[in-house]
Amino acid sequence: MATGVPEYLVRLNAEQREAVETLDGPLLVLAGAGTGKTRVLTTRFAHLLMTGRAFPGQVLAVTFTNKAAREMRERVSAILGRPAEGLWLGTFHALCARMLRRHAELVGLTSGFTILDTDDQLRLLKLVMEAGGIDLKRWPAPGLMAQIQRWKDRGVSPNRITPAEDTDYASGKARPLYAAYQARLRDLNCADFGDLMLHMVDILRDHPEVLADWHRRFRYILVDEYQDTNLVQYMWLRLLAQGHKNICCVGDDDQSIYSWRGAEIENILRFEKDFPNARVVRLESNYRSTRPILGAASGLIAHNAGRLGKTLRAGRNDADGEKVRVVSLWDSEEEARMVGERIEVAQRSGHALSEIAILVRAGFQTRAFEERLITLGVPYRVIGGLKFYERAEIRDAMAYLRVLAQPADDLAFERIVNTPKRGLGDTAMRKMHEIARAEGIPLSSAAARLAQGGITGRARAALSELLHGFARWREALPRDGHVVVAATLLDESGYTEMWKQDKSPEAPGRLENLKEFLRALGEFETLTGFLEHVALVMENDENAADDRLSLMTLHAAKGLEFDTVFLPGWEEGLFPHSRAMEEGGEKGVEEERRLAYVGLTRARKHAIVSCAANRRIYGNWSSSIPSRFLDELPLEHIEREGSAGMARNRMVEMPSVFTGAGGLLARRPKVIEAGAWEVQARPVRADAIGVGQRVFHQKFGYGRVTGVEDDKLDIAFEKAGTKRVLDRFVEKA
Ligand code: ATP
Ligand code: MG
Repeated sequence: MATGVPEYLVRLNAEQREAVETLDGPLLVLAGAGTGKTRVLTTRFAHLLMTGRAFPGQVLAVTFTNKAAREMRERVSAILGRPAEGLWLGTFHALCARMLRRHAELVGLTSGFTILDTDDQLRLLKLVMEAGGIDLKRWPAPGLMAQIQRWKDRGVSPNRITPAEDTDYASGKARPLYAAYQARLRDLNCADFGDLMLHMVDILRDHPEVLADWHRRFRYILVDEYQDTNLVQYMWLRLLAQGHKNICCVGDDDQSIYSWRGAEIENILRFEKDFPNARVVRLESNYRSTRPILGAASGLIAHNAGRLGKTLRAGRNDADGEKVRVVSLWDSEEEARMVGERIEVAQRSGHALSEIAILVRAGFQTRAFEERLITLGVPYRVIGGLKFYERAEIRDAMAYLRVLAQPADDLAFERIVNTPKRGLGDTAMRKMHEIARAEGIPLSSAAARLAQGGITGRARAALSELLHGFARWREALPRDGHVVVAATLLDESGYTEMWKQDKSPEAPGRLENLKEFLRALGEFETLTGFLEHVALVMENDENAADDRLSLMTLHAAKGLEFDTVFLPGWEEGLFPHSRAMEEGGEKGVEEERRLAYVGLTRARKHAIVSCAANRRIYGNWSSSIPSRFLDELPLEHIEREGSAGMARNRMVEMPSVFTGAGGLLARRPKVIEAGAWEVQARPVRADAIGVGQRVFHQKFGYGRVTGVEDDKLDIAFEKAGTKRVLDRFVEKA
């Protein structure tokens, strides 16, 4: 440090340094992906402490996720050379919860208030609606919950609803119901998630002395991922920043991907209006990705209209690199296999799994990859969500199937007997358990007794309907097959309907997961085979390896980076997602495109985009169209593999990739029709496999054939032991 400049500043370029060293006054850093916005923010934090401008407790730093907060804390500590303590660093919600504990009494709560989860919120709202005489069939509670959330996202408490903010939901009763719901929360000393922000904004607005206190405390405010703040978050920031006006926000309008959660890109424009003398710094060198990855991402996002406009150029010395791979595959299983193979190759050549990510558009897509990774023995984690078979709706569906297969499965029966709600209260459940215990019979048999007399009214009718249902479904099983029966069961039991009625933002994803669940079921010959498989998958979970691959949705990938990024499922309807297009029109497509931009720019060295020509539904094929985003990637930055010519709405030849090892072509039709969701029968395998052949099975992985009988093979699997399987699930390895 001969120059006297601290090492942490030397690591910055001139613009970044300007952003770090401009400590007084409002500052907006508007810059593309990977230009070091987060690095600037972290360094600025450390710089404030190192120069004695602020004590740790005098800086308020907002990140988008808890994980990002942890990372920032670590980096600040690394620069300081000691653990950073007493920081106000976290997500909007975490910071607000902490502040609200100090002022709870100002909104009628005590400091020990409980934060309700979404289930409890909905239950409470239903009670309030029932008390208000609302017909819940006509006006389902989730609809009102969503409206209340929208109000809260915009900082609108019940007494601040203007005619323009009002709605005619429940014949204009939404507003009094909202007020009643808030009053109920207060009585119970509870706050829901949205309240954390809303209450704090109300307090800061209504109590100047409290605001002044916080002004004295927070000399500096730092905000990451600013483009995704919603209005109430913005109001909170603006209130707190009015004191010292030292607020630094970093963001990228091209990465705004949370409008469905109330985020408002206009906050960037508001900032410049509310802080008229704000300095705006632009960063243009990307230090994350190679030139082809940047070129591909920039070319793609250029298709969006109405951008604030930025330049992005490669800033790394080694920026020349491999082109973005665009791989076309036959179906989603093949896609998972391709990804798996490449991961194995990378692993063998010494790449850390923690440097590889698979980023999907929709949660259900993780299933195919999870199964592949388990088969290959590759440890993974799902970031920002649960593993497929751990998700509530999948556990429920599993429980239904377990009862179908095994009526004495009490745990499963207990899980589903009142899901969806069948009006069985605590008393009914207790009675059921008592009968079961007294007579030593399974719960489902006890339930049958109960339905004959132990309970009355709606619960009785609903319970006997369920039990009759199970009898019917069980009877249909040998005739209709497990997939059809499972689909019927989920419909007739009211389970699917429960999620269709649910208006929460997660509900459509849950329905997609249920479809995927049926698809998974279709890959098995029997119900028990499937149940066994899932048990195996769940068990596999205990693997406690440190070096794991990351699997997550594109939304959860914001701000992260990996050497290698797989971006599967680039197909019309999936990405851009049909829901986004239906609800948002061209705007919806633009947000999807930003999501694609976020995805590509997560990669440092290798980006592999893929699309499947077919997705399987209930054991049948349906063809899909490659995403328009593929056409928007500039040709000079990509390299196509597989059926390069698989343009939209065209008859295509099977890609050469299928004619290679494994004889995959043998069980595939030669020509497919791209276009509508057209269904084709599953082709039958033709090529023969003999004893001694090393093979690969879709579920059990690698093994050697020990016996052949008609279309069945006995195989000694390397990981799964010896099994008898159908030959069409097997290919030569
Ligand atoms: P995103 O928009 O995706 O959130 P970002 O703008 O926040 O990206 P960072 O994550 O801060 O970008 O930085 C991207 C990568 O570039 C990181 O690995 C970071 O360490 C590195 N980096 C940033 N600035 C420099 C620099 N001046 N010299 C070398 N590497 C840098
Ligand atoms: Mg960042």
